[in-house]
Amino acid sequence: MKCVNHGEMEAVALCAGCEKPLCSYCIESQDENGNCYCFDCAISLNLSDFQGREKKFQAEEEKRKAKKGRLSGKVIVALITAAVLIVGEGAFILYTKFAQKKSAPTVTAEQEIVWERDECIMNMQKVREALAAYHAGNNQQYPPSLYEITGSYFKGEPVCPKTKAPYSYENLGTDYRLSCPNPDVHSAAEISSSAEEVPHFSP
Ligand SMILES: [Zn+2]
Ligand SMILES: [Zn+2]
Ligand SMILES: [Zn+2]
Repeated sequence: MKCVNHGEMEAVALCAGCEKPLCSYCIESQDENGNCYCFDCAISLNLSDFQGREKKFQAEEEKRKAKKGRLSGKVIVALITAAVLIVGEGAFILYTKFAQKKSAPTVTAEQEIVWERDECIMNMQKVREALAAYHAGNNQQYPPSLYEITGSYFKGEPVCPKTKAPYSYENLGTDYRLSCPNPDVHSAAEISSSAEEVPHFSP
């Protein structure tokens, strides 16, 4: 059997995601069980991993909160009573501050950055798919700007979900460069059609 991308190359594995035959160059990643994945399936896997990260954390957080929910409810009632009894705005402000601190989510700034990046990468992957669809339907040409894919190939506007700033896009002829316009947060998030590595970010 020949590779799906290289007609002259003998396939050495089937993609565990889409079952396409792959040569050794086209195996993008391999998991601990020896399953091989093509570029697209490897990206999808990474993305579901990204998505799972936040959900898993939030599920654990919910459980934790449910456990001590009753106790902190009592504390808050006691505090309100105290605040009402102690007449004076100063005490009330202090109380609000304390209550806010108490109920603040325990998500760290670092986690938040990772999740924001995850969200941005997932979004960029959708833009990448839209660009691939445009390419397939327009004589193997990439659009001159992201404006051409807006609406018809990409639902909504291709902007970073975090900053709402449009992605920077450059048509390189047979390839393109797509990156997040937020260099401080997503400096490594860049995608191209010919990218050889799946964008991956460790938490
Ligand atoms: Zn595949
Ligand atoms: Zn190949
Ligand atoms: Zn972004």
